[in-house]
Amino acid sequence: MPSKIKGYAGKFLRVDMSEGKLSDEVFDEATLRKYLGGTGIGAKILYEEVPPDADWSDPVNRVTIGSGPLGGTAVGGSGTISIVTKGAMTGGSTSVQANGLFGAYLRFSGYDGIIVQGASESWKYLVIRDGGAELKDADDIMGLDTYEVGDYLRKSYDVRGRSASVLSIGPAGENLVRWTGVFVDHGHSASHNGSGAVLGSKKLKAIMAFRSSGSPEIADPEGLKEVAQRMYEDVEYFNGTIGLVESMKKQGSGALPVKNYSTNVWEISDEDIDAFGTSYLREKYQVEREPCWGCRLLHCTMFRIEEGSYAGIVEEPEYEQMAAWGPVVDVDDVEATMMLSGLTDRLGLENNEAGWLTGWLMECFEKGWITKEQTGGFEIRWGDVDGIVELLKMVSERRGFGELLAEGVKRASEEIGGEAANAAIYTMK
Ligand code: SF4
Repeated sequence: MPSKIKGYAGKFLRVDMSEGKLSDEVFDEATLRKYLGGTGIGAKILYEEVPPDADWSDPVNRVTIGSGPLGGTAVGGSGTISIVTKGAMTGGSTSVQANGLFGAYLRFSGYDGIIVQGASESWKYLVIRDGGAELKDADDIMGLDTYEVGDYLRKSYDVRGRSASVLSIGPAGENLVRWTGVFVDHGHSASHNGSGAVLGSKKLKAIMAFRSSGSPEIADPEGLKEVAQRMYEDVEYFNGTIGLVESMKKQGSGALPVKNYSTNVWEISDEDIDAFGTSYLREKYQVEREPCWGCRLLHCTMFRIEEGSYAGIVEEPEYEQMAAWGPVVDVDDVEATMMLSGLTDRLGLENNEAGWLTGWLMECFEKGWITKEQTGGFEIRWGDVDGIVELLKMVSERRGFGELLAEGVKRASEEIGGEAANAAIYTMK
């Protein structure tokens, strides 16, 4: 029986991928108060159930995907999920978050979170609705990118509008590339520390949560509405971070990361930098809003590049994506920058790491710290958009030199050694 604690749907779903078994798990009020929200329960599960020396890809590792007491309420953006696991990049405990609808729909379906353990022998996806869940064979969705998985499943289940939310890993996650994330619907990513690789190691390709009719009971609904309104008024002018590259460049503060952080001076024409501005981008490319649960802000819109080599749909990139695929790799064509942001999300890769890895390789080639002999014939120079596309695909498929790059820039640069090892940008645990 689900617990009747206000602010909670009342149960977690435990998914044993080794056994193909699903069970409900109920936490008492003291536990839920002590380990607050998806991150709190995820940390408890990790520390109690995963031995310190377990590898991230060991079936004993857990992935907790959780909402929290505000999930699916009037609070803007309360469809967020927190994913807690032992990460593939550092081997340490990790909590990463993605916005969107999934956390809200999970709660409407009767669950506060999902605890995934074990490892399946064949690929599966999970469907959650109306207080129940089912594991299904994933043969039909293998190899699809993170946009395609959601679109395919929504079509297969005849989902109208936004009445289901899909969380998935891309081809890179299937191939256990270390720096892969978990993606929700179009481009919401919980992508740090290899959360996607961990789901891949369990052979769980996707989870679809329907917008069921359940709704967690709120202790003070009117009070919460007032707080939600005040929170909205505090941030109502927020207009995304997509234009920060342009404003930082024009302010001349020197904070822009350029050419693998080797300089902060970006040589770009006035016309090209204008195209990185918020107003220009929204007027020219924005086609529709796809906001997170309950959010009224002008953010998370879909952009369409109508024609040319980079034509397609891409979810509104953030500053980090615009920087990674702009100044960090010296690409001055904003359409290429947006296309690369979308491609990275689709393949299921983490954008910061992708920029650091690509910029590092470009700097190494420029300075002669790496040779084509070391990369199996692959070469890439500043601003080479086709080369970046090829690099991302090589990594996702673990093809050729992509096998080493799939380990991330820290490990790849240490393997290459020499001056190349000193040029890599990464964060340490
Ligand atoms: S739409 Fe943007 S601002 Fe609103 S909750 Fe989602 S990420 Fe946050």
